[in-house]
Amino acid sequence: MKAVEVAQYESDTSDEEISEEQSVRNENKGVHRKKKTKFWIKEATFNNAGEAEASIKNEWSKHYTNYTEDGRRVYYRCRKVKRRGPQCSSSVSLLYHADSDKVTMYRTEADHDHNDNEVHGIANDVKQCIEELYNDGIKKPKLIIRALQSRQLKVPTYAQLNNYLGYYKRKKYGSHTISLGELDQWCQDNSNVPSDENKAFVVSYKILYDDEDVDDTSGRIFRLFLSSVPLLNIGSVASHIEADATYKLAFHPLGLAICSNEKAEDFEFIFNALQIGMGKIKKNLLKPKSLVCDAADSITNGFRSVFGNSFDQIMYWSHMKRKIENRICQSIDRDPLSANPKQFATEPTITSDLWTRSYQ
Ligand SMILES: [Zn+2]
Repeated sequence: MKAVEVAQYESDTSDEEISEEQSVRNENKGVHRKKKTKFWIKEATFNNAGEAEASIKNEWSKHYTNYTEDGRRVYYRCRKVKRRGPQCSSSVSLLYHADSDKVTMYRTEADHDHNDNEVHGIANDVKQCIEELYNDGIKKPKLIIRALQSRQLKVPTYAQLNNYLGYYKRKKYGSHTISLGELDQWCQDNSNVPSDENKAFVVSYKILYDDEDVDDTSGRIFRLFLSSVPLLNIGSVASHIEADATYKLAFHPLGLAICSNEKAEDFEFIFNALQIGMGKIKKNLLKPKSLVCDAADSITNGFRSVFGNSFDQIMYWSHMKRKIENRICQSIDRDPLSANPKQFATEPTITSDLWTRSYQ
């Protein structure tokens, strides 16, 4: 048995690497005096480089290479610590034998001594797992955390995870913000009725920039209405129109409107867009008999300015009940005999409920 001293490698650390067979130490070399000397244990010999490299797991990262008489020797470091700074005592290395295709893998005698607490934020292997989960469709923080737990990985805090997901999404999809100018261009590019009838298109849009003279406190305004030929066809025979605004997104069974506000002008835009849509699919203009909505004046006024005054307004019983109860501070119950059924729809219909929920 003999210890083979290998050539000094060029690196930013100055450890001397000693190759040892089965960790037998040569006391005469005095290697024990050097604190950082590593003892390498032969772990396996592979027939070729491919097999050897495939056996190197994710926990290792290439560190440096030495050229020795026996062949090229590639050292890997523990990825739990940063490349710059003190390294974990545990590492592996591959010796590409000069006289054959064989590659031998060595592992240090020393166990891992990296300190998990020194890793700030999320460890690399956990990050990788999060990305894999995300790409497999597991995107909700709660589900990701559960999956990490079941894989017995160190679970990040919700704040860390949300930060990382935000970073990863920006990296994957680019910035999620779009400028008004880009939106303008996008609307222009998608305004024609597509040859594929089931594809959505921009029925109508309005974008006003800061510098335009508009009487609006927000300055910049955008409104767009998306729909498709089949949806507009459904609308073309509608006599009742239902409108509701949720979180500044107006949902409509005939299309999707996105507006920077929910004022009367926005609803006027939406209802007007419906008429433009009828024109685009060569149908007659709508003459709705009634409007189903909550009690928002903005919707009613917007509706009135497009469709005129001759319509019935129908409110959801639950919306009306809530509003009145807030005013009179006591509970009211519906008396079916005294309420005009034309005035109050009992509850949101299953369709409008599903429609709204599926887009929230
Ligand atoms: Zn380690």
